[in-house]
Amino acid sequence: MNYSWQRQTILDTVMQQKQHLTANELYRIIRPKNPHLSLGTVYRNLNLLVETGVLGRVSVSGEPDRFDWEPHPHAHLYCRKCGKVVNLEIPTQPVADLLAQCQGVRVERYSLLVTGLCADCSRAEAAE
Ligand SMILES: [Zn+2]
Ligand SMILES: [Zn+2]
Repeated sequence: MNYSWQRQTILDTVMQQKQHLTANELYRIIRPKNPHLSLGTVYRNLNLLVETGVLGRVSVSGEPDRFDWEPHPHAHLYCRKCGKVVNLEIPTQPVADLLAQCQGVRVERYSLLVTGLCADCSRAEAAE
């Protein structure tokens, strides 16, 4: 079994889907074409891709981690209705600037996650 080939397949799938999918969801997409792939291998490779800065990780409390095709910091919205995580198109530089003003600490990473309704659910609710 070629491990770098597996990693590439997993990475390609994240890049093609352009959604914030869990390891399990990615596994279900990749598995039909790669019957020898295990969920553990998907987890291991996703974690490695995050650790090496290739992919991002979105942690929602009480939910499995989602994996992000874009590793640079950006804001996310977690939809409380359908459970989707979507990107929020807001500039993150002001946030980085604010964090840079914090005295006596060293910020290494941050994540910006808000809860609400995604565009689809928001439209559906408005139409009700
Ligand atoms: Zn939604
Ligand atoms: Zn994202």
